[in-house]
Amino acid sequence: MGSLEAIEKYAKENNIPIMQQDGIVFLEKYIKDNNIKKVLEIGSAIGYSAIKMALVSNDIEITTIERDKTRYEIAVKNIKDLGLNNQINIILGDALEIEIKDKYDLIFIDAAKAQNIKFFEKFKKNLNENGTIITDNLDFHGLTSDVESIKSKNLKALVKKINNYKDFLKSNQEFQTKFIKTGDGISLSKKNVKNDENMI
Ligand code: SAH
Ligand code: MG
Repeated sequence: MGSLEAIEKYAKENNIPIMQQDGIVFLEKYIKDNNIKKVLEIGSAIGYSAIKMALVSNDIEITTIERDKTRYEIAVKNIKDLGLNNQINIILGDALEIEIKDKYDLIFIDAAKAQNIKFFEKFKKNLNENGTIITDNLDFHGLTSDVESIKSKNLKALVKKINNYKDFLKSNQEFQTKFIKTGDGISLSKKNVKNDENMI
């Protein structure tokens, strides 16, 4: 896969949930407008969003974690094919078991949706003072607004967990969160925001 189009096509054919187009456009603009230079991503899949973020500017550094070995290997190849080895450091493993020491301007949570609170609590120490935690898939294909109509027990439990995460963000005393209806629904969480005009 030597191009972004080929990665998008592969993701579609193999049901790999890469970021939706308008979500990724929002993320690219956010990185540009906020002069973000260091990103930690939880959930690389095949490297698509990491590659997109790295392409915003060649002085952006990304660390991204993926626990699925097959996806990790495809991501490694995609990153190499696009010549982004110097900007993207990909780690194979479970993000909940990996210790990260550095601090980041942006932490992008896009992994197991039921674990969002755990990722948030674990990695908030890695956020720079003025940094942002962005979480993807908070609408979960529109299901979060109509939980009771979900027939599958497992899916219903998962969607409830996503809604718990939203409640966790809404009531968080340390971080202020703004929810954006783009892509599959994302949140922006920042510390020390006086009024939410400063959020985006
Ligand atoms: N950010 C990617 C899509 C990620 S899909 C993009 O938009 O291009 C979510 C990925 O998170 C899956 O590949 C899954 O294997 C991975 N994942 C889930 N839980 C994880 C964990 N605890 N640690 C690391 N990766 C995880
Ligand atoms: Mg996602």
